[in-house]
Amino acid sequence: MYDVIVVGAGPAGSTASRYLSKSGLKVLLLDKNIFPRRKTCAGGLCRHIESFPYIHDILKDKSLIKSVCRGSITISPSGRYEYSYISSDPLFYNVFREEFDSKLVDLAVDMGTEFRDNTLAKDVNVISDGTVEIYSSNDIYRCKVAIIADGALGVIGSYIRKKIGVEKWWRNNLDIAVASELKVDEGFIDRIYGVERKAILKFRWSNLHGYAWVFPKRDTVNIGFGGMKDEMKAIDVQQEFNRYLSYLRNRSLLPKNITYSKVYGAPLPSGGPISKVYYSNILLAGDAAGFVSPLSGEGIYYAMESGRIASKVIISSFENDNFNVIGRNYQRNCFDSFGRNLKLLSFYKYFLMFFSENTHKYAELDPLLRRYYIEVFNGDRKALDPMISVRFIKDFLMFDIFQRR
Ligand SMILES: Cc1cc2nc3c(=O)[nH]c(=O)nc-3n(C[C@H](O)[C@H](O)[C@H](O)COP(=O)(O)OP(=O)(O)OC[C@H]3O[C@@H](n4cnc5c(N)ncnc54)[C@H](O)[C@@H]3O)c2cc1C
Repeated sequence: MYDVIVVGAGPAGSTASRYLSKSGLKVLLLDKNIFPRRKTCAGGLCRHIESFPYIHDILKDKSLIKSVCRGSITISPSGRYEYSYISSDPLFYNVFREEFDSKLVDLAVDMGTEFRDNTLAKDVNVISDGTVEIYSSNDIYRCKVAIIADGALGVIGSYIRKKIGVEKWWRNNLDIAVASELKVDEGFIDRIYGVERKAILKFRWSNLHGYAWVFPKRDTVNIGFGGMKDEMKAIDVQQEFNRYLSYLRNRSLLPKNITYSKVYGAPLPSGGPISKVYYSNILLAGDAAGFVSPLSGEGIYYAMESGRIASKVIISSFENDNFNVIGRNYQRNCFDSFGRNLKLLSFYKYFLMFFSENTHKYAELDPLLRRYYIEVFNGDRKALDPMISVRFIKDFLMFDIFQRR
């Protein structure tokens, strides 16, 4: 019998496992893949990741951090408006997910977590005394509390969301994003993207409700785009990816002779957190709970933060030997910390997508609004910050009504 079983060794699961093991609890971490495993992702760790003291060594480790992004160029859908932003602080740290996720698992194992990769969790059951049973092909594992962090489409998360009654809503609120890591000469990246490793954000590529990106790393660039699931199904993704590469080549943002082997796609939640993120003593964390910024698609930090919050609530339940309010406390703490902001960001996203040309025009003309946008995008500023609406209305009056420049 384990104190806690964690299903899924992505950032949510490994972070929770590390904190739980550190407190002395007996933790089993399961993952269906053999580690290190590939994960479709752009690999940008936004600055608020610095709030995890234990990964500061990783952020200084040049073998894991492929570049530090300190700037961006944002382009409106028509290409008419464009603005550049440079920050003295890091905007995000670029990693390869297979390396970063493995490192987080190692840190959990160092604290005492028992890790079993290549182990698919197939089913979950809560028996009458509250014990949670997790079934794999060969074994039944039992625990007092379970954390389900099996990503956007994991079977256990899906089962729990069905029990909660949100799975249909969930499926209707998924985006799909595609990405590829392309090898590029380091000298080219230095010359074009500078020491700031400026990221490119091109909004509404192919008219999708999303954006296309370039995240320059050391000697690779991560390139991709995303949109709503049904929109993505309706386009020829490969053709659109090639078209995006041509666009970048024509703007001299990629070498003429660039090649790539494969474009990978993966779902990501885009409607904000689900309305209830627990069932009995089972907590949903990371993507499985919808903890992703609907605006930027950033999910690594929110996965780790939900893992940290889950571990705090669980540790306190074991200390007080009271498991009655574990789910409610977890839900409240997640929503207070970041959940409500993520929900608001889903409305903010639609506003930005529908008024995309105007919002880019104002940002091009107004350096302060530009900074606000980047900060909201990056998770450093709350979506509901009244300063943003005030500035937006001021710019609307000044640039559109009174036609001032
Ligand atoms: C194209 C793309 C680009 C992205 N770029 C960024 C970015 O730059 N920055 C950012 O912050 N976020 C980004 N994201 C989002 C980010 O990848 C996710 O939000 C993040 O990985 C969520 O972490 P997680 O731990 O919840 O789940 P995951 O990282 O998905 O981990 C889930 C784990 O569960 C395991 N698993 C699944 N089912 C089972 C099962 N039944 N039994 C056992 N194990 C199971 C999987 O093998 C996996 O290891 C991107 C997403 C996409 C699709």
